Amino acid sequence: MSIASNLAEIKDSIAKTARSCGRDPQDIKLVAVSKRHSIAAMQEAMEAGHFLFGENYIQEAVLKRAELSREAKIHFIGHVQSNKAKQASEHFSMVETVDRYKLARSLNKHLERLDRTLNILLQVNIGNDPGKSGVAPEKTEELLRDIAGLSRIRTLGLMTIPPKSQEHDGARIHFRNLRLLGEELAARELFFDNNAVELSMGMTQDFTTAIEEGATIVRVGTAIFGMRPPLP
Ligand SMILES: *Cc1c(COP(=O)(O)O)cnc(C)c1O
Repeated sequence: MSIASNLAEIKDSIAKTARSCGRDPQDIKLVAVSKRHSIAAMQEAMEAGHFLFGENYIQEAVLKRAELSREAKIHFIGHVQSNKAKQASEHFSMVETVDRYKLARSLNKHLERLDRTLNILLQVNIGNDPGKSGVAPEKTEELLRDIAGLSRIRTLGLMTIPPKSQEHDGARIHFRNLRLLGEELAARELFFDNNAVELSMGMTQDFTTAIEEGATIVRVGTAIFGMRPPLP
């Protein structure tokens, strides 16, 4: 299967799922997760009319950003080490994985120097999974309030990676909980736009479930680009 036909199939599946639960397919953005895949593969996606990508590794993402035309937009979806805040502030249309104040403050400092604003999501460890990054659900409000004081950062919503589960439909409860948390925080007017809170959740295995539970951004890699090459 080609990248173009995989993309067409995923977009069709997104649209069908959205309509089946009474949502507008336009309200769901597809982030094509291209980590460890080649620039040529990304260009193939662009030739098929897809321009939004997700990357996990700063160095790889910055290299790709430099090679791709300006039409390409990259969401950073990997862990951001504090010493990589400068690069993270400069090269991406969104950083989905802010999970601590120190990082946000560091991003803000670099954004001031660059005279730039940055859209972010807060990564929430919604399943309280000890192996995962992300702010604890009960600490999310405090982090949002702290970040609201940083003038160059706009918090558009929440992102999560649920714990791995062997159970059928195991991710659904976590997706639902992320949506409920988003609704609670929006009711307190803590986001940049409280009428359009972004929820980034769902990957190849479970993006349709995530859409049923309210995802506005799904992050799909394998189903578009195939298996990832191993880490070097
Ligand atoms: C790799 C990755 C994805 C894509 O996963 P697939 O199973 O290949 O679709 C999505 N989100 C994050 C945060 C990832 O690291």
